[in-house]
Formats: sequence, C-alpha cells, structure tokens
Amino acid sequence: MTSVTYDVIIIGGGPAGLTAAIYASREKLKTLVLEKVLLGGTPINTDFIENYPGFPEGIQGKELVDRFKLQAQRFGAQSLEFKEATDVEQGDGIFRVRTDSDDYIGRAVIIATGSVPKKLNIPGEQEFTGKGVSYCATCDGPLFKGKKVAVIGGGDAAVEEGLYLTRFASKVTLIHRRHQLRAAKLLQERLEKNEEMELILNYIPVSINGDDRVTSLTIKDKDTNEEKEINVSGVFVYVGVKPSSQFVKELVKLNERGYIIADEKMQTSVPGIFVAGDICSGSIQQVACAARDGVIAALSVRSYLSD
Ligand code: NAP
Repeated sequence: MTSVTYDVIIIGGGPAGLTAAIYASREKLKTLVLEKVLLGGTPINTDFIENYPGFPEGIQGKELVDRFKLQAQRFGAQSLEFKEATDVEQGDGIFRVRTDSDDYIGRAVIIATGSVPKKLNIPGEQEFTGKGVSYCATCDGPLFKGKKVAVIGGGDAAVEEGLYLTRFASKVTLIHRRHQLRAAKLLQERLEKNEEMELILNYIPVSINGDDRVTSLTIKDKDTNEEKEINVSGVFVYVGVKPSSQFVKELVKLNERGYIIADEKMQTSVPGIFVAGDICSGSIQQVACAARDGVIAALSVRSYLSD
C-alpha cells in the first residue's frame, strides 16, 4: 500500500474521469486517476468524433482524449495506467481502492469506469476472437484490406464503425435484427449513400464459422427462420455495451441493469463516492455528457471534502 492519502481517487481514465481530474486538480485537490488499460477510454478506439462541441471539423477520438489527458496533467493530476480497481472499501473518513498490485487511499472516490462491449454469445465468437472476430474497427480495420466483412448491430457504433471499415474492406455487410436501425439519421443517410455497404435487416447472427480464421457467418431470418451463410473474413460486433460496475456492486446502489445510481450531484448511495460518465444510471453515453458528469463529480468532491 502507498503511504500517500489522495483527496480524490478517480477510477477510470476516459473522458469522464479525465474531465473530473482536470477540475479536481485545478481545485488543488490531490488527485489520482487509476486506469485499467490506457488513459483515454472508448474514444481511443473511435476513428472520428464530430459531435463534441468546439471542433467544427470533427477530431480523431484519440487526439481528443490526448488533449484531456494533457490538460489534467498540466494541473498536477497523477495517473497510473494498467491499474484495474478490483474493490473499494470504506473506512473511517477514507476509502481504500484495491488493485491487483497495490492499494490506494483516498478521502473521496469518483467512479468513471464506463462500459465494455457486449458479446453475441454465439458459436464461433469466442473461438475466433482475434482471428477475424473484433470489437474494435479502429484497431483491426486495416487488417481487412480488400476483404469482405460483416458488422453486427444497428446503433450508432455499428453504422459509424461500418462506414469506417469501408476504407479498407471491399464490402461491408451490416446485419441488424430489426427492420429499423437505431443509429442517428445522419449516419443512416451516409450508410445508404455508401456503395461499399450492404444492409441486411431482420436477421440475427447464428454462428461464426471458419478453420484457422473466420471464413463465413451464418444468419437467420427472424420471420421465416431460414438460415443463410455469407462469406466474410471478419465479423465486427457492435451490439451495445454493459457497465463495468462489478467491483463495487456490493458497495453502491446499482439499477437493474448494473449502472450506478446517483443524484444530480453525481453522489452515489455512499457519501464520498461519486460517479461520472457511461457507468451512471441514465447516461446517454456521449463524450460531451461524460465531460459534464466529470465536472459535476469533481465539484461535488470539493464540496464534500470542505464540509
Ligand atoms: P446501442 O445503441 O445500444 O445499439 C446496439 C445495437 O445492437 C442495437 O441496434 C441492437 O438492436 C443491437 N443488438 C443488441 N443485442 C443484439 C444481439 N444479441 N444480436 C444482434 N443485435 C443486437 O449500442 P451502441 O451503438 O454501442 O451505442 C452505445 C451508446 O453509445 C449509445 O448511446 C450511442 O448513441 C452512443 N454512441 C454514440 C456515438 C456518436 O454519437 N457518434 C457513436 C457510438 C456510440 P435493437 O436496435 O433491436 O435494440
């Protein structure tokens, strides 16, 4: 265990956590950010963000969060990467945040752990992960140059990342389980105009097939139950996200879907533990909203500590 007591420990270094770090450290609070992989969160794996205010031409996801990171560092926030919080324990006016390697002590905690991609849970998905099955077009898209790929899902992520994949793949087939896409209208218009994209509606994926790597995907018509196989070298899964709240499920109140419940000050059911970003119940999972939550959480920590 380290001997330092931080004013606030922020668990999660995505847009919400980094914004909280900017505000907390600028308030001269001794601030530590713990991030389970690399600072930046989901936008690291997002090609282009064009709805974050202040960037009329849009900005690369990684560049945006790199700027958040630099701003937090400028005000003195400390951060540690590859430190996954495994538990938070409440003591007498302090919290102990446990990770695999060390424990850290804070007078307040902000949980900003976001979410992880949901799986399809169909045969072949696990077997071919990293061998054609991917959850990150930005990371793996260039590996599919000139090849056919499928994207599963009908939300913003599926359409946006499908469009991105057309830069590399010879054809991108987007498969959605209903007749209407969930994605924003602007994205749907882009999809319709893109000749490299094909849309298959009202089908669900049944299995991902291959030998060493993916060679095809079997899908089923939801009305007729008729199955068909489409030849693809890659399957990109974008069927939504689930909250990374397991490690605090015994401590703070969660809603029925596992998101952390908080009031308008981002205060959870435990005084001194605040929340920000996608992990929060009611979040609409946008970078701008994550930043807003981070501001509120950090300023609420300030009030909590001065009380
Ligand atoms: P999402 O909006 O929850 O969409 C998930 C999609 O996957 C839905 O179309 C859903 O179908 C489908 N789906 C779910 N489970 C499935 C299954 N087992 N098999 C087949 N299809 C399945 O998730 P998301 O697209 O990852 O977006 C998450 C959040 O991030 C959203 O709030 C989104 O607005 C936000 N986001 C925003 C941007 C942006 O603003 N540019 C970009 C990416 C993400 P149904 O439609 O039938 O439910």
